[in-house]
Amino acid sequence: MTFLSETEITAIQNIIYIFSSILFITGIKMLGKEDTAVKGNFFSALAMFIAVSITFIDVVNPIILLSGIALGAVVGSLIALKVKMTSIPEMVALFNGFGGLATFLIAWSEFDSNPITFSVTAGNLFQHALVMTTLYIGGVTFTGSLVAYAKLSEKIKIAKTSIITKIFTTIFYISLPFLLYSTFVTPFAVPSFGFFTVLLVLTLLGGIGFVLPIGGGDMPVVISLLNSFSGIAAAFAGLLLSNNVLIVAGSLVGASGLILTVIMAKAMNRSISNILFVGYASSSASSSSSEEQGEVSPISVADAYLILESASSVLIIPGYGMAVAQAQHVVRELGELLEDNGTEVKYGIHPVAGRMPGHMNVLLAEANVPYDVLAEPDDVNPTMDAVDVAVVIGANDVVNPSATEEPGSPIYGMPIIEVHNAKTVFVLKRSMSSGFAGVQNPLFFKQNTRMLFGDAKESIGGLVSEFKD
Ligand code: NDP
Repeated sequence: MTFLSETEITAIQNIIYIFSSILFITGIKMLGKEDTAVKGNFFSALAMFIAVSITFIDVVNPIILLSGIALGAVVGSLIALKVKMTSIPEMVALFNGFGGLATFLIAWSEFDSNPITFSVTAGNLFQHALVMTTLYIGGVTFTGSLVAYAKLSEKIKIAKTSIITKIFTTIFYISLPFLLYSTFVTPFAVPSFGFFTVLLVLTLLGGIGFVLPIGGGDMPVVISLLNSFSGIAAAFAGLLLSNNVLIVAGSLVGASGLILTVIMAKAMNRSISNILFVGYASSSASSSSSEEQGEVSPISVADAYLILESASSVLIIPGYGMAVAQAQHVVRELGELLEDNGTEVKYGIHPVAGRMPGHMNVLLAEANVPYDVLAEPDDVNPTMDAVDVAVVIGANDVVNPSATEEPGSPIYGMPIIEVHNAKTVFVLKRSMSSGFAGVQNPLFFKQNTRMLFGDAKESIGGLVSEFKD
């Protein structure tokens, strides 16, 4: 492109970057609705492709860039093709980590290549602070995400109270003041290279210490927060490189990750600080609700069928157990058979049912359950007493009445689907074990509840066979 001047090339790049940014924003907006989500995903991917492609016009050595793209595309596609639906949070954790690593390396190379960082003055302090902050957020996101991945996939099991956790957590707490010190104090006094090396090490070890004490079940919230961090770090890297599209894309990821984190924390009725620094385990220790509370009434598949067959309205409430059992396809089949039988069927979807945001929506969409029969707690709770049968499939915490009835419960205040107000409740699970929050569920002992014990896929499969016979 020798026929264009450098200024013209930069202008063309910026115009294309603005176009890509608009595509990003449009794509993200479209992800909000099921019928436009696939197109939205495509638009966002196209935006990324265009943004990366236009970078080529003034790259000195395109081979390096091309090799990076090819390697990333192959590895990313292989992982995405191989991953199971239940392992998506782990994959997201890894991808966040790589995003963090990229910004960490960008900031490091800026520090090395830009001499101003060695002689910081009041005039270039902003640039220096940007390098240090990008490096820190990127590094913490990288190692923190690796730990989140390892915890979620149960590759590491280190107790919150273990000495290893305490050592890493201490390093994390040391790394924060050290970041401030090496950003604002040392550069003015001495060349900061020695401090910089110590900061690199503290940052990477501190990321481990940030995530290690958090319980495995809280990882999806942490991953969402780390996702936000990776976006913020990318936006900062965009500022460092004066790259507009990186600033926009990073800000979008940073903001949407943060919004998602807040939504998830709210739906669990917990503050983000409680998730990061306390966890359910400690808050539930004093609760008495982990004990069983009377006799339960089991029901057989054949008897459950007779009740369902004469029901005029059925609400299906899926939870984590449906994902474990991979029962979504038989659940859809049961829903269709009920409708054929003249029953009104709806699905009550709790925002934190399962182990990742939108978990139930994704599974039910995969099984072709129409979007318009899915309802949120606020839509179904006011009319719950008109529901003939609420079928709870592998859900536990999200239907636990302690959240509304027992002020001492660790989940008190968490919004729930109030199935206990339905005329009859079927709870499908394998045993009396508790859900994610580790507390007993008084729903199981209510007079209108019948326990259908067994694997959800087998129990629903049995009901489907009864309807077909
Ligand atoms: P829960 O974890 O409360 O309960 C799941 C239930 O499924 C268990 O009681 C288990 O009982 C049952 N189960 C497991 N496997 C099977 C199977 N094969 N067949 C039938 N039942 C099975 O799940 P919920 O969806 O109700 O609640 C989600 C919890 O996760 C909430 O506490 C939420 O705060 C938390 N959480 C959610 C996140 C999200 O983004 N969605 C993120 C982080 C946490 P049994 O072993 O007896 O079968």
